[in-house]
Parts: sequence; C-alpha cells; structure tokens
Amino acid sequence: MRGRLKDNPVPGQKRVLLAAPRGYCAGVDRAVIAVEKALEHYGAPVYVRKQIVHNIHVVTELEAQGAIFVEEVDEVPEGAHIVFSAHGVSPAVVNAAADRGLHAIDATCPLVTKVHREAVRFARDDFEILLIGHEGHEEVEGTAGEAPDHVTIVNSPDDVDNIEVQDPDKVVWLSQTTLSVDETMETVRRLRERFPNLQDPPSDDICYATQNRQVAIKKVAQDADLVIVVGSANSSNSVRLVEVALEYGAKAAYRVDYASEVKQEWLDGVETVGVTSGASVPEELVKELLDALSDAGYGSVSEVKTAEEDLMFSLPKELRKDLQGNRDERALGGRGRANAV
Ligand code: SF4
Repeated sequence: MRGRLKDNPVPGQKRVLLAAPRGYCAGVDRAVIAVEKALEHYGAPVYVRKQIVHNIHVVTELEAQGAIFVEEVDEVPEGAHIVFSAHGVSPAVVNAAADRGLHAIDATCPLVTKVHREAVRFARDDFEILLIGHEGHEEVEGTAGEAPDHVTIVNSPDDVDNIEVQDPDKVVWLSQTTLSVDETMETVRRLRERFPNLQDPPSDDICYATQNRQVAIKKVAQDADLVIVVGSANSSNSVRLVEVALEYGAKAAYRVDYASEVKQEWLDGVETVGVTSGASVPEELVKELLDALSDAGYGSVSEVKTAEEDLMFSLPKELRKDLQGNRDERALGGRGRANAV
C-alpha cells in the first residue's frame, strides 16, 4: 500500500510505517556526486573542507575513494583541489582558499546560497539580520560570514527576549535551512511581538527537503509506538525529525546511524514502528534498518507518502567546466534518487 496509512491495522500485528519523502535531497545528492566526479576527474586525493554532508557513512565511503576531509583550508597543500561542503562557506574561507592557490569547487547547496544572497542584499540595504539557527553550525557560520556586522544569531525562541537591535524598524529574519518549521515559526512570532515591523525573507529559508521530511514524519508519528530516524548526530535535519516525531505523537523516537544501533528493548511492546531518514542519508542504510526490523517480526511495510520530489541541481560550475571535455553530464541524471521507493 503506497501513500496512506493502513485503515485498520490488525491488532497485535507488527508493522512499519515508512515515511516518504525521506533520505537524500537534491543538495546532498549534488554535493556527494561533486566529490565523486572530482576524484574521477582530477584523481585522488581531493580535499573536502568539513564533512561534505553530515553523514558518517557517506564520509567514510568517500574517504575510501581518496577524499581527505579537513577542518580548514590551511591544512590543504597549495595548488590542490578542495571541495566546499553543501553547508556553504563564508567569503573569508573562499578568500583563504584563493590566497593559498587552491582550486575550489563550491558544492554549497543552491538553497543555502539563496540565503547567503539574501543576507548580502539586506546588509547592503542596512538591515539588521536576525539569523535563526544554531550557533556553531557550519551553515550558520557561512551565512553570518556574508555580513558579520549585520547578523545576530537567534538560537531558539528563548533567545528572543535578550536580543538588542539599533533600529527596531529595520530588522529582517532569515534562517538556517534545516530547522524545525514549528519552532522557527514560534521564534518568528516572538520576534514580531518585540519588533512589529520585522520583515520576512522573500521566500522560505527552511528548504523543501527539510519541510517535506517533517510533514511526512508528523503523519507517521501519530500512529507510531516508536519512530526510528536514520541519520548522524551532527545532522540538523535528522535530529529535528526525532524532535518532531515526539511532538506529533510518537511514544518514543531515536536516531541511529546504522541498523545495528537499534536496541532490542526499544521494540518491547511495540506494534508500529515509524521509519524515516535525514536528507544526508543514503537509502541503503534505510534498507538495512528495514531488513533488521523484518528479522524482528516487522516485515509488513506500508509507505506513507506526503509529497513527490523531483528537484535536481546541476553540478558546481567549476566542475562542469572541467568536465566539459568528456561531457560527463550523466552525473545527476543517472543516479537513483534516494526518495524513489
Ligand atoms: S537539506 Fe535542504 S538546504 Fe540542505 S542540502 Fe538538502 S536541499 Fe539543500
């Protein structure tokens, strides 16, 4: 059965409700392929600043192919190729890479770049930017770095009372792309109470993939005794899925990198397990979880689909240019989409 819940689950029958969309988004797909194509085209090693996407399995696989992950550009030998991660970088990082003579490939997700552009534009118009997001997260550092003198980071609704601005009539809010939609709207509501002339971003900053995965897990959670989210601990959107599942009715919710982390006691007395995965998670990890659940008696799987996704992004322009010679543009078209079920 696709797209809706079983109307009348058999009492006592163990089952899985599988959320869709889940897993890879267009920005992650593009970033991972960019590293793979760079390795193919330039040869190993190719350096990557920070984790290309926040998933330990993906990082480990790329390391095995010859990618070297670094924290900062000064760890990279002069003249080498470096890929900037999907989370984006500040202009200071771009300049540091150029000063070092590095060949940079910018795999920043275009939806993150959109927020960067908004920050640049509002700063140019002399707005104070209230950037809702998690301090220290790479994406927030990159966006804030576009206009450091204009940006104040707002971590949570509780931060709002302590924010100081110079001109309350010239403030705008922007956000990290991977936040909880509900919590962000609560933060905005409280910001607007304090600053009634607060301006909205021109379009949603929380990206389509984050929103779609939250909508799907909300639907699953209302019927789930337990929700298991596949995703890494540093993946913001994966961690949010656990929180959203709990808010929307799941009796328990856990995040795992691998199926082997599922604890037997989580399944005690559980009839319905909800399953989803974060936007940086390959589908093979979900498949392993479903196999493990099947072995534990949860072989009945019903998909709960709340949206279709078909967005794709072209490869970073630096890479496209270098690949032009061998016209290897099957890159994005040929890969199985993570959300195909
Ligand atoms: S989660 Fe959203 S912003 Fe982040 S890479 Fe995916 S599509 Fe882009």
